[in-house]
Amino acid sequence: MRKRIAVIGAGPSGLAVLRAFETARRAGVDVPEIICFEKQANWGGLWNYTWRTGLDEFGEPVHGSMYRYLWSNGPKECLEFADYSFEEHFGRPIPSYPPRAVLHDYIAGRVEKSGVRAYCKFNHAVKNVTFEPETNRFAVTVKDLVGDQVVTEAFDHVFVANGHFSTPNVPYFQGIESFLGRVMHAHDFRAADEFAGKHVLLVGSSYSAEDIGTQCHKYGAASVTFSYRTKPMGFDWPDSFEEKPLLEKLVGNTAHFKDGSTKTVDAIVLCTGYLNHYPFLEDSLRLKTRNRLFPPNLYKGIVFEPNPGLFYIGAQDQFYTFNMFDAQAWYARDIVLGRIALPEPDAMHADSEAWTRREEALADAEEMIDFQTDYLRDLLAPTDYPFLDVDKVAGLFKEWEHHKAEGILTYRDRSYRSTITGNMAPVHHTPWMDAMDDSLEAFLRVREAAE
Ligand SMILES: Cc1cc2nc3c(=O)[nH]c(=O)nc-3n(C[C@H](O)[C@H](O)[C@H](O)COP(=O)(O)OP(=O)(O)OC[C@H]3O[C@@H](n4cnc5c(N)ncnc54)[C@H](O)[C@@H]3O)c2cc1C
Repeated sequence: MRKRIAVIGAGPSGLAVLRAFETARRAGVDVPEIICFEKQANWGGLWNYTWRTGLDEFGEPVHGSMYRYLWSNGPKECLEFADYSFEEHFGRPIPSYPPRAVLHDYIAGRVEKSGVRAYCKFNHAVKNVTFEPETNRFAVTVKDLVGDQVVTEAFDHVFVANGHFSTPNVPYFQGIESFLGRVMHAHDFRAADEFAGKHVLLVGSSYSAEDIGTQCHKYGAASVTFSYRTKPMGFDWPDSFEEKPLLEKLVGNTAHFKDGSTKTVDAIVLCTGYLNHYPFLEDSLRLKTRNRLFPPNLYKGIVFEPNPGLFYIGAQDQFYTFNMFDAQAWYARDIVLGRIALPEPDAMHADSEAWTRREEALADAEEMIDFQTDYLRDLLAPTDYPFLDVDKVAGLFKEWEHHKAEGILTYRDRSYRSTITGNMAPVHHTPWMDAMDDSLEAFLRVREAAE
């Protein structure tokens, strides 16, 4: 009987899986039947922007955490697909830091071209997954949100690709319930405009705080205050920025920090991270991890050791994104196709433990970049994924880190060389701080006019 595969989520990770199998099918390989269940009306995952927050029109939790005016926070050359360059998609080189709509167009262009839409069931939310040892198959229960029907089907493999930057981690701070201004988690942040003229407190010191803070500044916030738990970000912030140690309590609208200092603010954005959250998986199938570069019990970062018929794509923290999901998808595909043999359980676990131990010893961002680069190298070696020069990509990541340190408001004005085409990206026509329109049309149209 032909094997059946369920893919949960049509974001970049799920789409990588579809693309991997479709590439094999087009090469004449007999591939399993694949169904990708996506709860949103279209593909693209987080890159498929929604204005909604809270619950969607079907009462499902809104997946989107992206906001208007979001521009790539790393060079596009670091995430470029080895089998589909930006130049192939846009017909010419484009600048290195595109806005969200441009990246969505790129992701969609590749999968549209490879004709995998037929594998996707949109507006279908996976509600439950259990494993049945008698049949060695998974029972996947899915709700057709438009048809209002719940159906359970059997699959030989499940690929979990639901993303892990969607379910907010929300700590409590004393007095927050009495705060009179706006309080939200970064997951619900949609546009910086509402903070023009306001004093904004961002709790957190990672990418969300850094980017939402600079967005608020760009769109006219009166001041931006960050509160960190372990250490300040330490960028060359403008004068209206401050970095404070951890928020201890709120008294009215005044924030009190661990060092005894205070700041009266109008709004609070909790940039306190996200949970790896798999509410649809039964206990025995659920990965339990914080956001980290190598979650435990995942052989090669993808195979769920307690049940190797289950794969997780994109479950780790990410320097690499789209091309790492490809590497994972190609590797997992080759396991399913019998091209890569899984070792015995003890050997799988010893391998993943060695990675998690190595991760625990990493000292700084450069070591983390090298770690994830080695991970990609390990995945890519046995597959036929087109050549990706990971050493060059690692070099770009390190350049990017330096550029951020040199200018947190100007790093997006830099250009990098594509490791796929060898061509240098052109400089964007408008410095990022002055580029207020983040539409694809503005990004491409103005570029054409400028040529
Ligand atoms: C604010 C923000 C900014 C970011 N900026 C960048 C950036 O500039 N560059 C970069 O490379 N990366 C960035 N990222 C990282 C981002 O995680 C990846 O780029 C990428 O979107 C991850 O892809 P994914 O498919 O794993 O997850 P997602 O993009 O989250 O997609 C998961 C998909 O699964 C679907 N889904 C979830 N649950 C179910 C269910 N029960 N049933 C059916 N479908 C389900 C969702 O609807 C969604 O479509 C950013 C992330 C965030 C939150």
